[in-house]
Amino acid sequence: MSIKNNLTNIKSQLLSNVTLVAVSKTKPVSDLMEAYNAGQRIFGENKIQEMTEKWEEMPKDIQWHMIGHVQTNKVKYMAEYVSLVHGVDSLKLFKEINKQAKKHNRVIDVLLQMHIAEEETKFGLDENELDEILKQVQQNKSKFENIKIVGLMGMATFTENQTQIKKEFLHLKSIFDKVNSDQIQLKTLSMGMSGDYKLAIECESTMIRIGSSIFGSRK
Ligand SMILES: *Cc1c(COP(=O)(O)O)cnc(C)c1O
Repeated sequence: MSIKNNLTNIKSQLLSNVTLVAVSKTKPVSDLMEAYNAGQRIFGENKIQEMTEKWEEMPKDIQWHMIGHVQTNKVKYMAEYVSLVHGVDSLKLFKEINKQAKKHNRVIDVLLQMHIAEEETKFGLDENELDEILKQVQQNKSKFENIKIVGLMGMATFTENQTQIKKEFLHLKSIFDKVNSDQIQLKTLSMGMSGDYKLAIECESTMIRIGSSIFGSRK
């Protein structure tokens, strides 16, 4: 299967309310250009340096999503162009994105990353930490004019157990519904990867992040 065929196949399964992020980490620009030429305009990377090199080299109508864990001291390298940061999991990072966005006169959209998996190693907030960040943001609205929370992101446990994955996705969806209110309107629920995106869509994901099913497995 070619990259183009993989994309066509995945897209044919998606309703129009689900956005496909093509996760191109570790893949060469030639692979990304194949996807680009097949119409794909949203790419996800997990390292800022790699994403920036690709941004410099590739057409400027691409939307670049940072899907990995972000170190505060590296935000400045992507502030000029990044379109959505999926992995915001601390107030410190939130403040830094706002600060760097301001330097470029931009508003950067972000997702708050929730910890929904069993593994300790996956990044993300628990519900108390989420409430705390939302409270701080509400109370300091005038300070945070260059950053916008547009939704939540989460990763399920790496397991074959579909029941467990579903439980975790539904949990994230319930947090999403709870946060979504007049005060803060969320539109994006980023959950689902190559192995579990069908389940994620059943659980009302609006954004899936697909790597290996488009570009083939990574080394
Ligand atoms: C690598 C990665 C993906 C894509 O994984 P695949 O299994 O290759 O689809 C999705 N989300 C995040 C956060 C990733 O790091």
